[in-house]
Formats: sequence, C-alpha cells, structure tokens
Amino acid sequence: VSVEIIKTPSAMRARSDAWRADGKRIAFVPTMGYLHEGHVSLLEEGRRRGDVLVLSIFVNPTQFGPKEDLSRYPRDLEGDLAKAARAGVEVAYVPDAPAMYPDGYQTYVDVERLREGLCGASRPGHFRGVATVVLKLLNAVQPNVALFGMKDYQQLQVIRRMTRDLDLPTEIVGLPIVREPDGLAMSSRNAYLSADERTRALALSHALAAARSAFTGGERDASRLVATARQLLDDRDGVRLDYLELRDGESLELIEGAVTRPVVLAVAAFVGNTRLIDNILLAP
Ligand code: AMP
Repeated sequence: VSVEIIKTPSAMRARSDAWRADGKRIAFVPTMGYLHEGHVSLLEEGRRRGDVLVLSIFVNPTQFGPKEDLSRYPRDLEGDLAKAARAGVEVAYVPDAPAMYPDGYQTYVDVERLREGLCGASRPGHFRGVATVVLKLLNAVQPNVALFGMKDYQQLQVIRRMTRDLDLPTEIVGLPIVREPDGLAMSSRNAYLSADERTRALALSHALAAARSAFTGGERDASRLVATARQLLDDRDGVRLDYLELRDGESLELIEGAVTRPVVLAVAAFVGNTRLIDNILLAP
C-alpha cells in the first residue's frame, strides 16, 4: 500500500473535484507531521467517516513566533507516510511554504475573541496563522468532514467558530486527547524532552487529574478547582507555568465562582525549553 503525495493547492483541488464528481465523501486530517497515536486516532475516525481520507503535513510558518521552534520542529516524512498507509490514507497533501505563501501573500483570518487569552496571550499571531492555514487547507481539500484533537482545545474552538462565521461547508469533529500510559498527553514536541524532563512533564496531567478528582468529589468552586491543580505545578523544579485557567467549554470565557456548565481546565507550561499544553473537560 502506498500513499499518493500531492504538493500544490491546485493539484489537491483537482483530485478533490474528481472525487466529489464520483460522489465520494472526503475526510481530512490536518497535521504538522511527526505522527503519533493522537494523529492516528484522528485518521482512524476519518477512515470511518469518509470514503476517501486525506492527511496533510505542513509545518505552517505563519503560526510560529519569531523565537519559536519552527526550524527545529521534528520531521519524519518517511515514517509519517508509513503510518498514513497503515491508517488507510489515500492522499498525503504535503505543500511547501512557497506553494502556500507565494510572493505577495497578504491575506489572514482573525477569529477576534476566541484567539485572545490562553495560548493566544503568550503566542501573539499564533491563531491568526492557524485559522489562515486551516482555511487554505480546507479550500484545497474540500472535505465533507475534518477531524481535530481536543489536545489543542483553543485551536478547535477557533476553527469551529471560523467554520460557522465564514459559512464553510465542512463538518468539524473534535476527538479526545490520546495519552501515554502514564498520562502524558501525546505531542510531537514530546520528542524534545530529555528523560528527566519527560518525568517532570507529568506534572501537567497529574495537576489536571487532581482537579478532576476534586470535581468528581463534588467541588464546584472555580478558584478551588484551579488551586487544587496549581499545587501540583507550583515550585516544581524545571517546570515553569505559563497559564492554568478554567474557562467556558465553548466561548472560552473565564469562569469565576461556581461551575454550572461544561468547562475546560487548560494548562500550558515550559518543561526546560519545551512548551507543553494539556486540558480536561469538566461537565456538571
Ligand atoms: P499537530 O500535528 O500537533 O498540529 O496536530 C494535528 C492534529 O492532531 C490537531 O488536531 C491536534 O489537536 C491533534 N492532536 C495532537 N496531539 C493529540 C493527542 N495527544 N490526542 C488527540 N489529538 C491530538
């Protein structure tokens, strides 16, 4: 089994037009590559929901800040294509940066409120880059359904909002976070962690798990839930907290007082030089 590689938006669009003319339902999973089981869970659900499955691999420069890890982001195209083949991918859409952003490029999508706060606060311009590239990928692939992980919870809400606001015809599906057996959320960036940092990184999922047990035990006060999680993150050697916040599960507005609707407890922290994120949903 081998996966066909398509490298330009126009060639991708031509392939999609042909599939659609054949009445095929197209499922799409956008990624930055270096695939792990989290990505594979999206591909497997895509396989179930579509007649044809498209994976994109594009490390999108417009969503990285000037001091971020764009140039050293991990890459393994051969390994990714092998995993894609096993997951039943028909086409890997792998454009390069000049194909996506040719000379003179100047158009961006800004989802104004959802991109504020959380990762948007420490990564200015990040969600503008994400929304822009996802819209461009959706325009090339023309999928009936696109699948995203809740690992990047704010990203998922930004994309859902953009899809509604711009009347896009694609159904957006969000899928649960896939974790390592010890609880660490899978991420391509985990490859940056030393053995010692890998152990320290467990503070994130452990903190969220502590808040979840408090919630399950009946705690509904937002600040006490956050404080419960924070205890496992403060004063941890080698872990520098960026944010830990309880927000509305849909609007992402900050929650104060009692939790009465589904909320997300979201965390971002630097472990060494690696910025990791994680979250859990809490539904009364
Ligand atoms: P990335 O390659 O990191 O841009 O991620 C591509 C897609 O995979 C995004 O929709 C992510 O939310 C999703 N994803 C990344 N890590 C996980 C995970 N551990 N569990 C589920 N989905 C994930």
